[in-house]
Amino acid sequence: MRNEKAISLTFFGAAREVTGSCHVLEVGDYRVLLDCGLVQGDDRQEARNYEPFPFEAHGVDAVVLSHAHIDHSGRLPLLERRGFRGRIHAQQASAALASILLRDAANIAASRARHAIADGETGDMAHPLFDTRDVERTLRRFVTHHYAHWFEVVPGLRARFLDAGHILGSSVVELAVEVAGGTRRIVFSGDLGQYDSPILRDPESPECADLVLMESTYGDRRHKSRERSIRELGELILDTDPAESHIVVPAFAVGRSQELLYQLGRHAEAWGLDRWHIFLDSPLAIEASDIYWDHHHLFDDEAYALRREFDHMPALRNLHFTRTAAESRVINRMKGGGIIIAGSGTCGGGRILHHLRHVLDGPQHHVLFTGYQPRGSLGRAIIDGARRVRIHGQSIEVRAQLHTIGGLSAHGDYEDLIRWYRAIPGKPPVCLVHGDLDAMQALQFRLTREVGASATIPEPGESVSL
Ligand SMILES: [Zn+2]
Repeated sequence: MRNEKAISLTFFGAAREVTGSCHVLEVGDYRVLLDCGLVQGDDRQEARNYEPFPFEAHGVDAVVLSHAHIDHSGRLPLLERRGFRGRIHAQQASAALASILLRDAANIAASRARHAIADGETGDMAHPLFDTRDVERTLRRFVTHHYAHWFEVVPGLRARFLDAGHILGSSVVELAVEVAGGTRRIVFSGDLGQYDSPILRDPESPECADLVLMESTYGDRRHKSRERSIRELGELILDTDPAESHIVVPAFAVGRSQELLYQLGRHAEAWGLDRWHIFLDSPLAIEASDIYWDHHHLFDDEAYALRREFDHMPALRNLHFTRTAAESRVINRMKGGGIIIAGSGTCGGGRILHHLRHVLDGPQHHVLFTGYQPRGSLGRAIIDGARRVRIHGQSIEVRAQLHTIGGLSAHGDYEDLIRWYRAIPGKPPVCLVHGDLDAMQALQFRLTREVGASATIPEPGESVSL
């Protein structure tokens, strides 16, 4: 081993934005990616996915994946297609979730390309970003690990996963580089969950770090308390007449959908759910729910106890898993009475669009947003008060009653983020990633003023060396 080993970190994706998470760690001659996520947003944003990587794919020795969400994992098949031949390290439940999310992403890519061709597009967008063969080859590169166990990434660099409490398998990545006379530690927060959230355990902080990369999605926001959010959800259900209204919930297939079912199951009687039909209208969310259920050893105590009482999902009467498109269309023929959970969570595609097309112009219907809506997304436009939106080429007036319930977010708010950071001894320098600039600046201000930390906001392409 050389005495002077250069260690540097370059921020390529999710620098001053919330999507396309990808950072490059160089240790001596080795190059390791932390995440390789898809850029999500409007068409212009998503066109960026076709651009060349700012590094040679075949020059990447390994990838360490923080969690399965597509904005962290979604360009792995493209990396494979462009020549990557190394290993992808992931927590074991993350790998299971990544397999269903990446297969789904290949289907979405194919259908987007078909739509682009139908619209007369001949450029990049007329070709799928990757296909199912790329995905299957990518999945064979996965090496899985349990939480807390150290593993070698490349010679001289070890890593381990700590629970990030964001979705099942989500990880804080602790990296240890052996250098002359000791070890340098870099910690990548991945996406951090809220403390005391159901099903998942609390985010874990590392015992030490020389440099921290921290997400800042809600760096400027304080969530409503979870209890209050759950109470609001209950009041909305109790106050709504199922005879004529639907409650439509755009939800991410992984994480939010499971928590919603969990809350509905816990409060079924109190909220009079017998009056409703509950639809989990997403084959992907149904598969993800099965993976959650199989990994109960990762649950927090309450969910674990509940899992022991039931062999399968908690019995929720009138819960329908609609796997096929035909089953999904039946829902649209109902005048009301449906609590419809469907993806995508940002309304960027999927079955939620059919439901929104049916309910958005009806003032008796409700749309309930439970998660982050990125700039440029249909969900964001609706929340921001658009009077009309376009869905499947049709202009639709927004007259339904809109609700946002922030307390169920899978991301921590600034108090959670600061709490996680404070638990790391020695106030290591922190680079803020994965946030809109205003959220980052707000968090930077708090970290500097309230905690006395040195926090920077790297530009895309900027490098820091250790
Ligand atoms: Zn995430």
